Amino acid sequence: MQIGVPAETQAGESRVAVTPEAARRPLLIGVPKETAALEKRVATVPEVVEKLVKLGFRVAVESGAGDAANFSDDTYRAAGAQVVPTAAELWAMSDIVFKVRAPSPQEVGLLREGTTLVGFIWPAQNPELMQQLAARKATVLAIDSLPRQLSRAQKMDALTSMAGISGYRAVIEAANAFGRFFNGQITAAGKIPPAKVFIAGAGVAGLAAIGTAANLGAIVRANDTRAEVADQVVSLGGEFVKVDYEEEGSGGGGYAKVMSEGFQQAQREMYAKQAREVDIIITTALIPGKPAPKLITADMVRTMKPGSVIVDMAAEQGGNCELTEPNQAVVKHGVTIIGYTDLASRLAKQSSTLYATNLFRLAEELCKTKDGVIDVNMDDDALRGLTVVKEGNITWPPPPPKLP
Ligand code: NAD
Repeated sequence: MQIGVPAETQAGESRVAVTPEAARRPLLIGVPKETAALEKRVATVPEVVEKLVKLGFRVAVESGAGDAANFSDDTYRAAGAQVVPTAAELWAMSDIVFKVRAPSPQEVGLLREGTTLVGFIWPAQNPELMQQLAARKATVLAIDSLPRQLSRAQKMDALTSMAGISGYRAVIEAANAFGRFFNGQITAAGKIPPAKVFIAGAGVAGLAAIGTAANLGAIVRANDTRAEVADQVVSLGGEFVKVDYEEEGSGGGGYAKVMSEGFQQAQREMYAKQAREVDIIITTALIPGKPAPKLITADMVRTMKPGSVIVDMAAEQGGNCELTEPNQAVVKHGVTIIGYTDLASRLAKQSSTLYATNLFRLAEELCKTKDGVIDVNMDDDALRGLTVVKEGNITWPPPPPKLP
């Protein structure tokens, strides 16, 4: 078993007899500074460092790793982490690496053989990266591959925590670009109507956007192909707008499926009506493994009121709006169309804290003995699901979890 054994012992494992005490030396979790463009998040935060230390781990952080999220080197030191000057040193000393984004080729080059890597990996989209990680004889825990349908996995569900933050931030971006109040007001200068917001897709991000826009006082409507979300939309203060076409929208695992041409036509008619009526559209519609459905056409944008705003949260997957430009805010036909792909990162302190907590919950599952040594138990459904490489062998896709 490689994973519970620190680097020094692993290197000579075949030749040197390892004492039980040495084999159970606490592992070192290393947290490098994220290198992807626009990425401000960091994979652990000082308050979580303290908890990891209590779990028996040693923690090291690359100098400056938390700067963009407002966590200074000193706060990490005070929490019990070692701060090391360079990425190369950090990667070289780590038994476990906590990251947010999938590693770049340079970072894979720094990954020491036998290390455990935790972060967003997206194995289906990154086959080459998977091969490279396997070649490093790594064990890779892809937080995006967690079986979210297991209730036990919810505390580790970083996709949900990041989507919730992104939905909130999408509304804030919309409010920032919109020239009026969200809430209706009666003032001495006249009566101001509330803004009307339409949310396309009521998954985790969409529901967060509905709640945020409703709290700001807007009139909120939402649509999703999965009719089962209607009650949740209403409970958050929105109105569920149905497509006038009978078709079940749920695919596998509670996710959406591609709808029939007939449904799509009826949906386009309903969306065209909403586009004429509302001030703000926030789109969140995704189908796992498929390009984002095009729900807002250029013709619909043309009919929107001048000064309206679209926030396209599906911009990274091709966009729900035909006119979206990824990572840009553009004005077309008098409508501001926002295609930022870093919405969670724009709230870096909050998203880093929630992400770090999700990884801490994972660390607890990996280290039930609380001695800083991990056991990637492949008989545990949650751990099996997110283990995409085990000691150099690709173990993705996993078998379906055994649901109770
Ligand atoms: P997602 O980001 O993949 O999709 C966003 C939403 O877009 C979904 O609600 C989807 O139904 C909707 N959509 C897709 N195509 C559409 C279209 N053409 N028109 C309108 N809407 C469309 O999804 P997500 O937010 O990551 O999660 C969605 C599912 O995962 C839900 O069923 C949710 O309950 C489930 N989930 C379960 C758990 C859990 O059980 N612990 C946790 C998180 C999410």
